[in-house]
Amino acid sequence: MTNCTQSINPATGDVAAEYPEHSAAEVEAIIDRAWQRFASWRRTTFAERSERVHRVGEILLERSDEWAELMAVEMGKPLREGRAELAKSAWVCRFYADEAEAMLADRIVPTEASRSFVHHEPLGAVLAVMPWNFPFWQVIRFAAPTLMAGNTVLLKHASNVTGVALALEQLFDTAGFEPGCFSSLVIPGSRVAEVVEHPGVCAVTLTGSDAAGRSVAAVAGAQLKKVVLELGGSDASIVLADADVDAAATGCATGRLVNGGQSCIGAKRFIVHEDVYEEWLDAFTEELASTVIGDPLDESTTLGPLARRDLRDELHDQVSRSLDAGARLHLGGHLPDDPKTAFYPPTILTDVPLESAAWVEELFGPVAAVVRVSSTDEAIELANRSAFGLGAAIYTGDGVVGARLAAERLDAGTVFVNAPVASDPRLPFGGVKNSGYGRELGREGIFEFVNVKTVLVA
Ligand code: NAP
Repeated sequence: MTNCTQSINPATGDVAAEYPEHSAAEVEAIIDRAWQRFASWRRTTFAERSERVHRVGEILLERSDEWAELMAVEMGKPLREGRAELAKSAWVCRFYADEAEAMLADRIVPTEASRSFVHHEPLGAVLAVMPWNFPFWQVIRFAAPTLMAGNTVLLKHASNVTGVALALEQLFDTAGFEPGCFSSLVIPGSRVAEVVEHPGVCAVTLTGSDAAGRSVAAVAGAQLKKVVLELGGSDASIVLADADVDAAATGCATGRLVNGGQSCIGAKRFIVHEDVYEEWLDAFTEELASTVIGDPLDESTTLGPLARRDLRDELHDQVSRSLDAGARLHLGGHLPDDPKTAFYPPTILTDVPLESAAWVEELFGPVAAVVRVSSTDEAIELANRSAFGLGAAIYTGDGVVGARLAAERLDAGTVFVNAPVASDPRLPFGGVKNSGYGRELGREGIFEFVNVKTVLVA
């Protein structure tokens, strides 16, 4: 009997669609096709690749309404945020379609030899294990540079967004990519190891939880295959005594609520100087309390449900454990009555103990963990007191001091001063510590899956 995976609308609890999983034989055939397609795809010119990747970007915009609706139904993203995600995905296509050739051009390195240079070559079929939270963006930001470099792509998307996984496959087909350049594998996480081990797969990237990252890295490590890991985060936002308090509160609220709080670089821990604490907390609370919670298909909704009910229950358990550990409930924190849906209210926990779940674990939803500090040094120390190191933000009236603290003292892959952390196709993105290793986006992203080959003529 064929196993099926379901997409469940988190705003209603209803099954939106059911998809058969690929059998072992189908997986074998899909990997084989990707590996065989690599032989011809790697020989295409940058102009040929660029034309197709540009077309992917155009189609993303053309079908924006339809695919924003698909995301709303499969994982609860409000329509406006869905359209913004698709527009950003189109941007990353344009970026790599235009820049890849220059980024990967041969680089002459003068030596004693008559000629020496660095040449860049693709590796093969690269497996991408992806999460549901930005189901188009996460995939496209990996696929655009990886295909531009001449690799082929195998996608194993999160099981609750199989509709998006299949839409993505259709998108690349429609844009003119030959069969095998981009393929979706409809399999659960438990079957990823067999794909990583397959000789037709040369490398793997995973965006997701640190638990999934550890598991995939262990299998890939045993096969000596390259791995990039974009894992979770528990980003700190520091509000210093000289900050513009209203602007900081708005930045913090935006950072906390983006994607319903389900962003790896969402602001999760808030470290606020005592001089501005009360004023900041009032303004921050007002921002969180003013969200419009509702059906993500309704244009006026600003906060939809979480993506799945089990994730909502897990988040509430983290809140409950943090309260038991001594945190104070300042806003929200109560489970809605409806047992079928995945809604959770904006929640603020204050005086959060540093050993509690809200500080130690990643809060993947609209829950803010707040502490008060009495100095900049204490703020930095607390920000770094985390197993994660993805992003961080500092709010200060002195941009020079902010930039120095950002560059020299915070253990994170990205630090923004006076703005919530966000990704940008032009800038590298990734983490340190348990947030993973390797980089996506920017120049760095395209070099992850290429052979940096040295050629020397004596
Ligand atoms: P997840 O449960 O780790 O799932 C991510 C992907 O990994 C899914 O495709 C999942 O498949 C698969 N997977 C799960 N367990 C696996 C295993 N043991 N072996 C192989 N594959 C496995 O994460 P999520 O709940 O979808 O996403 C949320 C997490 O992603 C958060 O921690 C968030 O911070 C992180 N994230 C990080 C970034 C970044 O760029 N750093 C960006 C976005 C999200 P199934 O769905 O079939 O289980």
